[in-house]
Amino acid sequence: MATELFLPPTFPYPIKVVSLDLSSHSTVNRGTRLLTYSFLHIPTGTSRARPESRFGTWDSAVEGIVDRWMIKPGDIISEHQARDSAAILVTEPCKHGVQIGGLCGLCGKDMTECARFQSTYATLTYSPQLRLHRLFRRLSRIHPNDSLSLWPHRLLRRGAED
Ligand SMILES: [Zn+2]
Repeated sequence: MATELFLPPTFPYPIKVVSLDLSSHSTVNRGTRLLTYSFLHIPTGTSRARPESRFGTWDSAVEGIVDRWMIKPGDIISEHQARDSAAILVTEPCKHGVQIGGLCGLCGKDMTECARFQSTYATLTYSPQLRLHRLFRRLSRIHPNDSLSLWPHRLLRRGAED
């Protein structure tokens, strides 16, 4: 299931699509440039203000594979259009949000094989509770949407019950 990405509402609309910087089936990471656009900037503070062309880029906030573009170079996009129709479809990888007995409940990946999860889990398991709290705060900053950030809660709860 592809995720629909919309142009940010903060862009200086109307904008003109100059180039699409990724083709279908390309890999997208956070911060990958998706497209380049131009817009008319009207300088303020002078009496002889003349509009000038400026350029901006749109960088991805998600990771995945480009499914397809819904816009093309040369398109002029209003604020309305940006809000109402998706600009690009991206297929995001599994976030392993549901875990059952060490396996991802969505894609079936063995989570104990994943080094990052494993080492973090080990650190959490053997840390004293205070450090666990600090680690949890750090983790939830690094992985705000990760299921990892739920683990320390469970561990703490389990620790309190023991
Ligand atoms: Zn998964």
